[in-house]
Amino acid sequence: MDMGIRGRKAIVEAASKGLGKGCALALAEEGCELFINARTAAELEATAEEIRSRHNVKVTAIAGDITKPEIRDAILTACPEPDILVTNAGGPAPGNFRTDTRERWMAALEAQLLAHVEMITAVVDGMAGRGFGRIVNITSQSVKMPVPNLGLSTAARMALTGFSSTICREVAPQNVTINCLLPGPFDTDRLKGNFAHGAKVSGKPEEELRQARMNENPSKRFGTAEEFGATCAFLCSVHAGFITGQNILMDGGHFPANI
Ligand code: NAP
Repeated sequence: MDMGIRGRKAIVEAASKGLGKGCALALAEEGCELFINARTAAELEATAEEIRSRHNVKVTAIAGDITKPEIRDAILTACPEPDILVTNAGGPAPGNFRTDTRERWMAALEAQLLAHVEMITAVVDGMAGRGFGRIVNITSQSVKMPVPNLGLSTAARMALTGFSSTICREVAPQNVTINCLLPGPFDTDRLKGNFAHGAKVSGKPEEELRQARMNENPSKRFGTAEEFGATCAFLCSVHAGFITGQNILMDGGHFPANI
């Protein structure tokens, strides 16, 4: 299926690795011009080069922390009129709410909420004025289903969910959609980090925790960044213009719901 977004300009935040990279690759495969971001310049440039050589599209890399206003400004200076925005940032390390400091809370609110609210606010009216826009927030399965020790990031992601579902109705008439993609377990560095933390806390080997997590999933495996990226590209396509304000869970069937 042709997604109908060839030549569209797409900003993908936090995209040198993992799910963000999966989204960037899938959008590049559909012919989008990309503006990608992550903090580690060398890794980001390597990813930009990989995307250029695989998909022959223009890729601009803007290195820096998405929570910093000057980095968001640099992205928007490079791409003042994006058609597509994928918001993303690394999640905070797991932690017990009893020891979560105010500093950790503020960092989570910056990375999981405020940076994305500001990017969305900066681009959404321009998209509406041009009559096309697709915004996808990478959040988490924890928005639907509580995950132990992730209260802090879950609270911030739920706030982004509420913001998005509220404003998406305002711009729906102008063909701008805002949706969230909720990853369950995907085989990325983030997941490996969670197992490393779990191993330290429980004293169990990381591999044992990894196998147990796969076994508890109805699909008996983790998702891949390619699967995630393909779903993101569809949500950004011309075909998905009637899907907005949705929270699409990708978890291999783990969340036990009838609807
Ligand atoms: P990942 O493999 O660790 O990749 C994270 C990417 O984000 C890297 O490119 C990283 O590069 C970049 N990044 C992190 N913080 C950043 C910041 N402040 N500013 C700019 N770039 C930043 O993680 P992932 O698995 O793709 O996860 C993406 C998001 O989905 C995270 O919020 C994670 O919590 C959430 N999630 C993931 C899973 C899963 O199973 N993988 C499940 C639920 C939710 P630099 O470090 O160089 O900046």
